[in-house]
Amino acid sequence: MTDSSEIAIIGSGFAGSLLARVLTVLGYDVVLLERGMHPRFAIGESSTPLANLSLERIGTRYGLDDCYDLAAHGRWMKHYPELRRGLKRGFTYYRHHPHTEFENRGLDSERLLVAASPDDSISDTHWLRADVDHHFVREAVAAGVDYRDRVDVKAAEFSSARVRLRCVREGRGFELRAGFVIDASGPGGFLARQLSVSSGLDKTQTRAGLVFSHFDGVRLMQDLVPGLPEGPYPEDWAAVHHIIDEGWMYSLRFDHGTTSAGFLLTPRGQSGLQHLASDPATLWGALLDRYPTIARAFDDAVPTMPIVFHPLIQHRLTQAVGERWAMMPHAYAFVDPLFSTGIAWSLRAVERLALCFEAAKKSPGIPDVAVLDRYAAALSAEADQIDTIVAGAYESMAHFDLFASQTMLYFAAVSFAEASQRLIPVDDVAWKGFLGVGDPILEPLPAAALARLRAITRSNGETGTVQERQAFAHWMSDAIADRNIAGLADLRRNNLYSIDFDALVDGHNLLGLTRADVIDALPRLRGNTLLTMADPTPIVAGP
Ligand SMILES: Cc1cc2nc3c(=O)[nH]c(=O)nc-3n(C[C@H](O)[C@H](O)[C@H](O)COP(=O)(O)OP(=O)(O)OC[C@H]3O[C@@H](n4cnc5c(N)ncnc54)[C@H](O)[C@@H]3O)c2cc1C
Repeated sequence: MTDSSEIAIIGSGFAGSLLARVLTVLGYDVVLLERGMHPRFAIGESSTPLANLSLERIGTRYGLDDCYDLAAHGRWMKHYPELRRGLKRGFTYYRHHPHTEFENRGLDSERLLVAASPDDSISDTHWLRADVDHHFVREAVAAGVDYRDRVDVKAAEFSSARVRLRCVREGRGFELRAGFVIDASGPGGFLARQLSVSSGLDKTQTRAGLVFSHFDGVRLMQDLVPGLPEGPYPEDWAAVHHIIDEGWMYSLRFDHGTTSAGFLLTPRGQSGLQHLASDPATLWGALLDRYPTIARAFDDAVPTMPIVFHPLIQHRLTQAVGERWAMMPHAYAFVDPLFSTGIAWSLRAVERLALCFEAAKKSPGIPDVAVLDRYAAALSAEADQIDTIVAGAYESMAHFDLFASQTMLYFAAVSFAEASQRLIPVDDVAWKGFLGVGDPILEPLPAAALARLRAITRSNGETGTVQERQAFAHWMSDAIADRNIAGLADLRRNNLYSIDFDALVDGHNLLGLTRADVIDALPRLRGNTLLTMADPTPIVAGP
């Protein structure tokens, strides 16, 4: 049996499904192949303002109302209450020390809160991926995508005219011919294996293992450590990070009570735990035993699925595109959950590839290699940038003050990008570099910060002197000053950063806008309505 389609997409995570749907809306004939079946568990759950901006733009440009509705917690609740999600008001960090309860030292507590939204209604969300990915697949099917699950793609053969995919479904083989293949198979790396694309991991810096699961019955930090000074949002309704000697833990609470949690363990952090690697539940218990406040949070917690351990989660390839093929970011590279970059980066790639195909639709039909090279160059530079920022963050975990300073680099880059994208409409916004890539001020900063941090920690986890840590904080404050529209790196704020519209107005000139421009935009910013499109009429009508 032989079928054919213009585009074959391998992997139906949200990235593959959304891109399949957009390309169908553009008039392409798309087949979407999935090895498993929905609903299915997937990791990578915490969205960000930049992810939501991409989702809004995709929704607006291609007439996909659900994308727009799912880009803010309030709209999501109104239109899709059945899709499980969690309120994410910001990024919360605590530093824990072995065998010591987290200490409430008032404003001097080792705690950092950075708000990502001014209120619940326009807040980000944690995506329960089983529900969200299933939704996007259903919508893809409704749009006309030829979706086939339980398909094992055995081989891909490329010729100058087409690609032949040899597949098996329920024991029956079939062949599929396509004009172009997009690998959205995540770390499964389908095309990497087929095309023998070599690994580029040795040129990257971040290394971590992960032990994780979903749990019911996790207690809130606000109950475990009562009386902490009030922050800009309820601190548990956030991407909660617990920094520990061995690395860090994420804890993402969904509105229905389940919590996604995992410990990221550095190689040094793992070294004393090797003997537990074969038993993830025991490894999990051993980590909890070292950190009493986290342990209390999980006292009554019950895993809703087995606890899993992966000794190394990073991967990176040396090539992301070729003639008749391209990879989505998660197939090409993954750095770390720290700073929740994955969803935003993947959605940006959906936008970019959609624009490539939009331009190619009439002729030559599929994007040529020169166009794809632009996509690949962006992915490569951005993967390096994410890696360097995250590697710096791991280095800085030696001391919470260093860590809090290093996070300012990430928050400066994303808040500047968010404000620019909302306030200054430009046609090629999807091609703007992620995390400061292409920005002469932001692009070099992660490498400079990492070098400074390594000098302080001696690349050996040393905490440095008070003077060294203060000097790093001052350096960071100066380094981000020209992009700091959010009042970041300000010691007077005691690590509690709200959404500061006054700072945004004061920073108008950093954005190249007048004070009046920004003041005019404030009501719309507070309402989080899309400002990037002067005319919200879809460029391409929905199906
Ligand atoms: C531990 C961890 C934590 C993360 N946390 C965050 C976070 O907090 N925030 C964030 O933004 N990002 C996070 N990420 C990144 C996030 O998971 C990814 O960006 C996201 O999953 C990418 O989605 P995707 O659709 O490209 O791929 P995936 O979600 O990986 O989906 C790939 C799909 O392809 C299918 N597949 C695989 N192989 C084949 C094959 N051979 N044939 C057919 N189908 C195949 C799979 O079954 C799956 O359905 C995290 C990642 C990890 C590893």
